[in-house]
Amino acid sequence: MTVQERFLRYISFDTTSDESCAACPSSERQWALARVLEKEMKDMGVSDVRLDGHCYLYGHIPSNAPGAPAIGLIAHMDTVDAVPGGPIHPRVFRYEGGDIVLNREKDIVMREKDFASLADHVGKDLIVTDGTTLLGADDKAGVAEILTLCEFVLNNPDFRHGKICVGFTPDEEIGRGADLFDVKGFGADFAYTVDGGRPQGVSYENFNAASAKVLVHGFSIHPGSAKNKMRNALRMAIEFNSLLPASEIPECTEGREGFYHLCRLTGEEQEAEIRYIIRDHDRQKFEQRKERMQKIAAYLNDKYGDGAFELILKDSYYNMKEKVQQRPEVVDRAFAALTACGLTPVSAPIRGGTDGARLSFMGLPCPNLGTGGYNGHGIFEYACVQEMAIMVEALKKIVEANA
Ligand SMILES: [Zn+2]
Repeated sequence: MTVQERFLRYISFDTTSDESCAACPSSERQWALARVLEKEMKDMGVSDVRLDGHCYLYGHIPSNAPGAPAIGLIAHMDTVDAVPGGPIHPRVFRYEGGDIVLNREKDIVMREKDFASLADHVGKDLIVTDGTTLLGADDKAGVAEILTLCEFVLNNPDFRHGKICVGFTPDEEIGRGADLFDVKGFGADFAYTVDGGRPQGVSYENFNAASAKVLVHGFSIHPGSAKNKMRNALRMAIEFNSLLPASEIPECTEGREGFYHLCRLTGEEQEAEIRYIIRDHDRQKFEQRKERMQKIAAYLNDKYGDGAFELILKDSYYNMKEKVQQRPEVVDRAFAALTACGLTPVSAPIRGGTDGARLSFMGLPCPNLGTGGYNGHGIFEYACVQEMAIMVEALKKIVEANA
């Protein structure tokens, strides 16, 4: 099967994950695709195919090149729930430039001026949606590329490679894809998530991330007799926020600039609650951001009385760079593979996290590779057929034993 055929097959399954469900997998519908992949892997001859009780699917291809490293390839099976995950009506066509009409009836058009990446795909075959769903290239393009590689390796016994470990996870889009990943059983020396965009991208820097919850305890009294008595929790919450640096917010930052993001503010005079996420690529600056919040809470507790502000900080994940840097061969290998495929590798810092970041801290260094999928998480998601094929070639170079 070609990578395009595989891809079209996998996106016919709606595998939307569900943040509101605490179980793993978070949605029963992820099983249907997992079982199809399990059967495909067994049929093509992947060894020790194992679909566990939480919808994690593993398998490996034994090494035929003694001494070569065991390399893991990881993708996620779920899709995001921000837009409908099915039924997907994909369209494959040769892109000649200009705007793309996704849905004439509903007047849904992908404008060239809104999506700069389109300019790189003139003359290429694109797969788009009908404007009513996402496409699922994030990350079924990754799944299709990994299994196309596996089929090639198993059909070409002369191709020399180390052990190839394959892992497909549920629930990545709700941040839980690494939670129950069996790093030990997976058996790789290092790995790559195949879950990015453009094929030349290799990402091994992501945010350090924490969440902050601020509970504000006020004192409510009839406004007519409030003088010198009322402590309005809402106004106190606004005061807390006003003490944070005004320009260190997502709207004003890019590249490696960190931020505090106010994502929720609720309450009334008596009680209020503020939620933030804190992000910074630099670990030291990340720690300083948390300290600044603690200092603001302490200052306001001096002002309003002890216990008026309760600050609960929780780290979410860390920048994988500090782990990946200890194993430079992991990024070097990806760069060499992409270069051999005629690409010029680039690594831009990710302004987010990846499952690979969590896995890196679980002992499995794990940068992220591209898929040829674009505009994930929305109706303008599309995939480039030629770039998916290039990624299969790049994966071959990555797992190939340099004899
Ligand atoms: Zn993804």
